[in-house]
Amino acid sequence: MNPPRLLGLRRTFGFGDRLGLATPGHLAAVRGSSFLPVLAQQSIREMGRTGRTPHDVLRSAADAVAATGYEGPWGTDADHLQTPADVAAVAAAGFRAFTLDPSAYVHDDAHALPPERAKPAAETAARYLGTRVELGDGVTLAFDDATVLGRIERKFGEALQHTAKLAEAVRAACGEDAFELELSIDETATPTTPLEHLFVGLELRRLDVEVHAVAPRFCGSFEKGVDYRGDLDELAAQYRSHVAIARHCGPYKLSIHSGSDKLSAYPLIGRLSGDHLHVKTAGTSYLEALRTVCRVDPALFTRIVALSRARFPTDRATYSISARPDAVPAQPDPAEAEAWYLDRDDGRQILHVTYGSVLASELAQPLRATLERHADLHAELLERHLRHHLAMLDRDFG
Ligand SMILES: [Zn+2]
Repeated sequence: MNPPRLLGLRRTFGFGDRLGLATPGHLAAVRGSSFLPVLAQQSIREMGRTGRTPHDVLRSAADAVAATGYEGPWGTDADHLQTPADVAAVAAAGFRAFTLDPSAYVHDDAHALPPERAKPAAETAARYLGTRVELGDGVTLAFDDATVLGRIERKFGEALQHTAKLAEAVRAACGEDAFELELSIDETATPTTPLEHLFVGLELRRLDVEVHAVAPRFCGSFEKGVDYRGDLDELAAQYRSHVAIARHCGPYKLSIHSGSDKLSAYPLIGRLSGDHLHVKTAGTSYLEALRTVCRVDPALFTRIVALSRARFPTDRATYSISARPDAVPAQPDPAEAEAWYLDRDDGRQILHVTYGSVLASELAQPLRATLERHADLHAELLERHLRHHLAMLDRDFG
């Protein structure tokens, strides 16, 4: 028996597994890296779309750990919990690592508030105005402008209250058991500035919400299933500040959401984070499952592509992506299908965001059967792809 554990501030990598069949490949990939694996990682939204329960997600990871004989530590992550009911459902299934997502209460338009409407509350002004925080490495952040502070309070104030409420739900559900909390504020329209992050970190402490990780929204774009788009020098500069804030307010880890395929940004993230880092991926493993199908059952792959293209205009709505269906042939030559749909950005995103429709369709059963029949190839493709992710994160580390 090797039950899941709490992994604290260790370097961890989240291997989301929407099909519940990817753990053998994930465990093979993580071997020899600086990371410990978080295997049962799924959001409430993903569970809804894949028709899985929190219990299914935990059990398929635990069963695969037992089957492979893996003896190292591994973690879990009940991801993007938005309500006390979400918390209760995953805690009842046995999750003890929770990602709290108060994004519905973030006011993304606060930066545009005119000064007369951006006054901070009196107690907030008394608490923070004039505060300077030395973060080391020559970085100093200061709350020296009432309007800026008021906008930050407007953006995150209600979200922090909601976070405290979710944390209370976790405490109530876990009773005597130890647990871990991550705060995710990555799903917002605007990047989290270092000063905003500092405010959030200080408020978490004041509200007595102890977190082991925070996921800010970083600059540039972290679109699903494709590499980082943006200025790497700017990302490095901002990232350095975020690391210093995480050390000052916690220490806690920075958590990188939508981590799938952000390969060009990985060396700087892996290096600047030092020993404390968490990265989450999910969709990229689904795409390796489809790569397996593409190689062994081209006819089934063609049907999956057709369904994904039909569903794309609807399914893309909840994602910020830039895929253009017109840029990819609807029925590519079988010899070129893998290149079009699994190696190039447009095709990858079309398949990436439509997983829920595919897994809710009559194609789900043959997809699973094919992966079970070709478990070795599936594991081999996952290992190769995720090993590359981990190698880039470790490239300039240590
Ligand atoms: Zn996220």
